[in-house]
Amino acid sequence: MNKIKDIAKIIKKSKSIALFTHISPDCDALGSTFGLSLALKKLGKNVKIFMKDDFTASQHLLFDENEVCKGECNINDFDIFICCDASSINRLGEYGYVFENNDKTIVIDHHVCNKMMAKYNYIESESSSCCEVVFKFINALKVKLDSEIATKLYAGLSTDTSSFINSNTNANSFLVATKLCLANAKTQFVNQAIYQSKSLNSVVFKKYLLDNFKIDGECAYVGIDQQTLEQLNGKKNDCSGYSKALINYKEINYSFSLIEEEPNKFSLSMRSKIGFNIRIIAEKLGGGGHVCAAGATITANNLNEAINLVLSTINENKERIKTEKI
Ligand code: 5GP
Ligand code: MN
Repeated sequence: MNKIKDIAKIIKKSKSIALFTHISPDCDALGSTFGLSLALKKLGKNVKIFMKDDFTASQHLLFDENEVCKGECNINDFDIFICCDASSINRLGEYGYVFENNDKTIVIDHHVCNKMMAKYNYIESESSSCCEVVFKFINALKVKLDSEIATKLYAGLSTDTSSFINSNTNANSFLVATKLCLANAKTQFVNQAIYQSKSLNSVVFKKYLLDNFKIDGECAYVGIDQQTLEQLNGKKNDCSGYSKALINYKEINYSFSLIEEEPNKFSLSMRSKIGFNIRIIAEKLGGGGHVCAAGATITANNLNEAINLVLSTINENKERIKTEKI
């Protein structure tokens, strides 16, 4: 792994910079990428963010989709390529090619399972969010934080810690949050955008969850297929809080949700409590993530088959999920 100051030197020397993050970006992915982009612009760099995914309604309130380029990235147009919050080439989706055999690449991340796909890699797995790591880079680049940058970074820090309650929340998370507040991060605006801007139609999805979740020992789970999503007039994002909602109960130590994104392609989201490492299951299924929040993409003929695949993987690895070390 490289040092922040050495990567900062490379960034300082570059004029044109292309930024990337992982597919289906969450607010940490967007916050770290947009926060870094603003900081680099303050240094006078030409910056372009490449991203294929559309934003969710909440994300639209916090990040400007017009800043994003959805087209191809011409390797010759940039001096350096940086990706935030992405642990492997697969996670870059259609932009994976940019990081293949390219020695002008930098990875900034906080995933312990990061594959170090770039020429220069800085991964801080003890950081609760990639925004915390970008915060350090912004300091190393000697860019003064402003309200706009602080607000983007706060959005990622707040969501990747689930409002400072996940087990990844530590002293540094609070310290960075304090510094972001001191730089006038609009915390109430972020809170409202993320937690109080649900569409009324999303109540239907809350009802679906309560009507359909199941329990298998200490695991709670729910799945939804495309047909049901269409019937309820919803999108994948309407169900994005399912695994998180199911971990809230005392009897439950881990939870998962499966959402059929495309025919036979299911996105798996998993959560666990302290003492349980759910990432092991996500990795067995070809994905990854963190100890207490992980995911994967699963191919199966139908929802039941996908659920059974996850349940059997959990049952085969029950002892391995239990962990003292977090
Ligand atoms: P969520 O449940 O919020 O969608 O994802 C939780 C975490 O799991 C993410 O922060 C990310 O680290 C990881 N994750 C989710 N989906 C995938 C996936 O398909 N592949 C990998 N490697 N990680 C994933
Ligand atoms: Mn993250």
